[in-house]
Amino acid sequence: MTPLGEILARRIRETGPLTVAEFMGEALGHPEHGYYATRDPFGRRGDFITAPEISQTFGELIGLWAATVWDSLGRPPRIVLAELGPGRGTLMADALRAARVWPEFEKAVELHLVETSPVLRRMQAEMLGGAEPAWHDDFDSLPDGPLVAIANEFLDALPIHQLVRTEEGWRERMVTLDETGRQLAFAVAAEETKFSKEVPLRFANAPIGSIFELSPHAVSIALRLAMRLARGGGAALFVDYGHFLSACGDTLQAVRNHQRHDPLTDPGTADLTAHVDFGMLADVLTAGGAAVHGPVTQGSFLRALGIEKRAEMLIGRATAAQANDIRIAIARLTAGDQMGMLFKVLAATSPGLAPPPGFG
Ligand code: SAH
Repeated sequence: MTPLGEILARRIRETGPLTVAEFMGEALGHPEHGYYATRDPFGRRGDFITAPEISQTFGELIGLWAATVWDSLGRPPRIVLAELGPGRGTLMADALRAARVWPEFEKAVELHLVETSPVLRRMQAEMLGGAEPAWHDDFDSLPDGPLVAIANEFLDALPIHQLVRTEEGWRERMVTLDETGRQLAFAVAAEETKFSKEVPLRFANAPIGSIFELSPHAVSIALRLAMRLARGGGAALFVDYGHFLSACGDTLQAVRNHQRHDPLTDPGTADLTAHVDFGMLADVLTAGGAAVHGPVTQGSFLRALGIEKRAEMLIGRATAAQANDIRIAIARLTAGDQMGMLFKVLAATSPGLAPPPGFG
């Protein structure tokens, strides 16, 4: 077992099984051995590649998106531009470069990054130091005022609870030790728990063995964000893989070195994610007082923002080999059999704001 596996095993022996959310929180966020706390997971040599690492056009188009929102807010002289989980800082670097075409926007921007990983904070400082960002552990400490918030592949990293439909009703899925006491294994809680009672009623008759996922962490962030947008004005953009409507399914997945990995083996060494429930996200944002736009697929969002035109511009001054790479990258982001359909985009705005670009 990894050092984190040993720590979790001891905790299970001492205080009993963990919820999947507790397990996921530790595997990703443990301050010493957690996945994000210890490494740079991105890129070809890392464990996975995200959209901004595939093509500069992704961050550029989002930069212009942010500037357009600022414009429709009446061009306030100061705007909090926040990114949740900025990774290497690539998206924001591309966004700020593209937004230079609106110098007034560039002058208004106050950059804030919500990031818990010290390793990634250092990379962000290198990439974005010139823009003088301020870092936050949590969304709540962002300063007041009009806000544009960007979150790409952020919500999928937040811990989820898994509920299993049993003969007796919904029960929480737990992480415990197997008979040997040396391996982590899934189990099902015997009694009802707080979250087993929160599965929406319409799933009461789901087949035995069905799994429903809940992310109270994502719900809480969405609610606070919506209330803040309703109060201070602005917009938030969420891009992630997930489903349009709430549904049953086990989407917990571990990836290491671009390969699927067993989520319970060697915790802390693989990325763990779960699909985002965009139906739930839209409901919570609406309940918090925000106007919701979408979700739409990433392919349709990027096409509406003009990704093809932007790619043609880049191809116009590229070598033949570079042009080929650009075409491959754009297809990867937009094609239905690649990221174009699986990834969804949802925006929340203060009520009364014009629908932001990409959702027309
Ligand atoms: N947006 C980036 C990175 C996505 S990976 C990209 O598209 O490349 C998820 C990011 O969220 C990482 O930066 C990770 O360190 C951060 N993160 C994960 N959980 C977090 C939390 N609870 N609070 C703040 N940041 C978190």
